Amino acid sequence: MIPPSVPEPHLDSLYQEVILDHNRRPRNFKLLPNATQYCHGLNPLCGDEYHLYLIVDKAAQKITDVGFQGQGCAISKASASIMTTEIKGKPVQEATALKDAFIEMLIKETIPDQTREKIGRLTLFEGVKEFPIRVKCATLAWHALADALKGVSEHEEKD
Ligand code: ZN
Repeated sequence: MIPPSVPEPHLDSLYQEVILDHNRRPRNFKLLPNATQYCHGLNPLCGDEYHLYLIVDKAAQKITDVGFQGQGCAISKASASIMTTEIKGKPVQEATALKDAFIEMLIKETIPDQTREKIGRLTLFEGVKEFPIRVKCATLAWHALADALKGVSEHEEKD
């Protein structure tokens, strides 16, 4: 749950619509009991907390299924939800490249066109940069993804 002291940023209305939709109806919001990879992600600055489950086909190096559960602010939940729709069925390498590009977008002042191309519709989170305290809300699920793929089961966003 979002602490009352942290206001929701006023994002561009179209982007906000997508984020609110994923917040209301998160996709792949499920536990995967047969997950091969798992990470518990925590963002103490906002109180966002999620469990990320992946099924990786080791031979094909492909993410065949993904699910998440947990709670947090609209940005963190929408980011996790959209992430799951982006990485499901993707080769691990592609999902990792997308993660790198997404995080680059959120932490760098300007991003090269090739990074922007890679990110595609995820650029809708670019507006979050105007609210530095919320950047970690947006990156939480992606950092948890990186850790899950590495076999690290705990991730905490830090300053
Ligand atoms: Zn948050």
